[in-house]
Amino acid sequence: MRILILAGGVGGSKFTLGVRAAAGHDDHITVVANTGDDLWLSGVRLQPDVDSIVYALAGVNDTHRGWGRAGDTERVNEELQAWGAGWPWFTLGDLDLGTHLARTGWLRDGATPTQVLDRMSRRWPLGVHLLPMTDSEVDTIVTVRDQDGERPMHFQEWWTRWRAALEPVRFENPGMAEARPAPGVAEAIANADVVLLAPSNPVVSIGPILAVPGIRDALTATRAAVVGVSPVIGGRVVRGMADVCLAAIGVESNASAIAAHYGARASGGALDAWLLGEEDEALAPEVEAAGIRAVVAPLWMRDEATSAALASAALGAGRR
Ligand code: GDP
Ligand code: CA
Repeated sequence: MRILILAGGVGGSKFTLGVRAAAGHDDHITVVANTGDDLWLSGVRLQPDVDSIVYALAGVNDTHRGWGRAGDTERVNEELQAWGAGWPWFTLGDLDLGTHLARTGWLRDGATPTQVLDRMSRRWPLGVHLLPMTDSEVDTIVTVRDQDGERPMHFQEWWTRWRAALEPVRFENPGMAEARPAPGVAEAIANADVVLLAPSNPVVSIGPILAVPGIRDALTATRAAVVGVSPVIGGRVVRGMADVCLAAIGVESNASAIAAHYGARASGGALDAWLLGEEDEALAPEVEAAGIRAVVAPLWMRDEATSAALASAALGAGRR
């Protein structure tokens, strides 16, 4: 079976680990990673969601902290701070900087982000084919509102420095209108047997992927079943500040509102089926009323076993 996953960082990588564990030997997994989180900092290109997925699949991620490399140090970061370079609120680990330097060097040599990721995928046996959503730079800009009015800032500043505490008015990805899906992405969607939307942030992880011109059309056209997993359980985002993002686009932080936001494929949306938590069973009729098959399942990804169980439920929903 050809499995295709659309994924953000932390939720995306935990789910992808589960899919890899649940998949059979003959299954082939392609992961399309969000690159809307990317940024330039201190002269290097950061791809936080891509790196979260690579590190998690390679087993070298810091599971305790939830980001970066296990056992990383911050010597270079201290030196950058002493120079007043970069952002004082944004820590770059030494091992992580090795990744960013390698990537930036290859980009400077003329490689595309797809080629860079292909090269990065050879170091460890990841067990999946990893693609960026696009080769274009479409970093997310948030317009925030405070007493001085509205002003734009890079998503990473808003998320990391301000912990999403400044009221967001809108999210934009400059350059998105001219962006194209990375080579192989549209084909992988067309040839998939099942497409899975990871339980990632609907606004700043899955949102940018679906916004790449051509990706939505590929989802509409594919013969594969498209199955999404709710990132909200019992009305709460599990981790992070996705609820603030959802509020900015006028979507309630609950499993059926997010499903309705993605929409039923039968009426031009993205979903055939939607997995919602046992805590949210009462919302199933609302999801079904929106034309999306509701599947109730345990949505907590506590470890690889629970992630694999969730992945099996999603794959099962795709087979029906
Ligand atoms: P980011 O790019 O690192 O912010 O990560 P993602 O966008 O991939 O995922 C973030 C989302 O994952 C959060 O908004 C959570 O709601 C969701 N999430 C995290 N852990 C779990 C879990 O165990 N189960 C489910 N269903 N969602 C989760
Ligand atoms: Ca992200």
